[in-house]
Amino acid sequence: MSQSSKPETLALHAGWRADPATGAVAVPIYQTTSYQFNSAEHAANLFALKELGNIYTRIMNPTNDVLEKRITALEGGAAGLGLASGQSASAIAIQNLARVGDNVVSSTDLYGGTWNLFANTMKDQGVEVRFVDPSDPQNFARATDARTRAYYAETLPNPKLIAFPIAEVAAIGRPLGVPLIMDNTAAPLLVRPFDHGAAIIVYSSTKYLGGHGTSIGGLLIDGGNFPWEDFGERQPALNTPDPSYHGAVWAQAAKPLGPIAYILKARTTLLRDIGSAMSPFNAFLTLQGVETLPLRMERHCANALAVARFLRSRTEVETVIHPSQQSGWAGERAKKYLRGGQGGLVGFEIRGGSAAGRRFIDALKMFYHVANIGDARSLAIHPASTTHSQLSEHDQLATGVTQGYVRLSVGLEHIDDILADLDGALRSSAG
Ligand code: PLP
Repeated sequence: MSQSSKPETLALHAGWRADPATGAVAVPIYQTTSYQFNSAEHAANLFALKELGNIYTRIMNPTNDVLEKRITALEGGAAGLGLASGQSASAIAIQNLARVGDNVVSSTDLYGGTWNLFANTMKDQGVEVRFVDPSDPQNFARATDARTRAYYAETLPNPKLIAFPIAEVAAIGRPLGVPLIMDNTAAPLLVRPFDHGAAIIVYSSTKYLGGHGTSIGGLLIDGGNFPWEDFGERQPALNTPDPSYHGAVWAQAAKPLGPIAYILKARTTLLRDIGSAMSPFNAFLTLQGVETLPLRMERHCANALAVARFLRSRTEVETVIHPSQQSGWAGERAKKYLRGGQGGLVGFEIRGGSAAGRRFIDALKMFYHVANIGDARSLAIHPASTTHSQLSEHDQLATGVTQGYVRLSVGLEHIDDILADLDGALRSSAG
């Protein structure tokens, strides 16, 4: 495996050299449910976590393992866990720490699906998620009490596309024993949340990591940088005996294996029990995407910047939402955090509200109209009537979705073709 720390090299080499059995260079799809144990002792050691190794694909798989290692290397973390979807990654990220009666403080600026998970499903399960406005990092401190187990946010949340104050909020949580969990789905390689003090990273690999719109998947990455054992009262899930694993105290039990208590618990208890495993085939396809991620992110960012500038020049457009257009505190955050690029998403408020937004979407010829982001192809959607439609209008506004808002996920096509499609649809939107 390469010793390089450069993302272009890690994206191709981290976690893999060649198949030990066959010499295959491409990571094979280990399409197996189970693994032959060498002996009764070997099997017992694996189950007792005295040795790490393959037991059953619901909890680990060699193809998934390479993907987990590769993203962990790109993020500078300690260990990763592949999951069936980004939604599963967000759910397990919280369930791994919070129990009935506990709470989590989350940014309001979230993907609509995460909002629903937090506001409704988590609530039904007895975990309160307290939503706070991230424009003032101190809002996280104000909402914290003795039962707060984690902070949660997205690095570059749409629709607002304002970079989250990772270092500021991580610094509020650290002395209290509250880890910051960052969903980095929209900004892989552009921002490395662990460099700013985040403890855990969540990904929907469905988006830029896979990059080709083929596979739903999610990842959790443990930064290995959070001192769980120093906060026995604050973090009981990792510091009290776990009856589901012979009374293991995860902060202690993980020590011989490295600073991986959080991810080890997630894998050996939650993934074991809930079973939302990533399929090895999806891990394989996601790995194909990751190999070209550095190149793709560069082009996504360049094309999106060109689109933002183009939209700003148009009379049909009221406002353009892109980090390049921000000033004041939001502009400062973009400068501080988005050093690797400003992302592939562009939002805009079209003149004429919802009706104009729908006309625009219907007039696009090359952009796909889909509920996804981070595909190699350009995508567009009208969130108020789709991704955010299950939220009340009040909650939609709290997440930044207005009636005329259109979200673009700018792809890798030639910029002339992207702008030509937008030009045609804008002309049609005027009615
Ligand atoms: N996080 C973000 C920022 C997303 O955009 C999405 C999906 O759109 C998710 C999480 C959920 O991921 P998935 O669709 O893979 O479950």
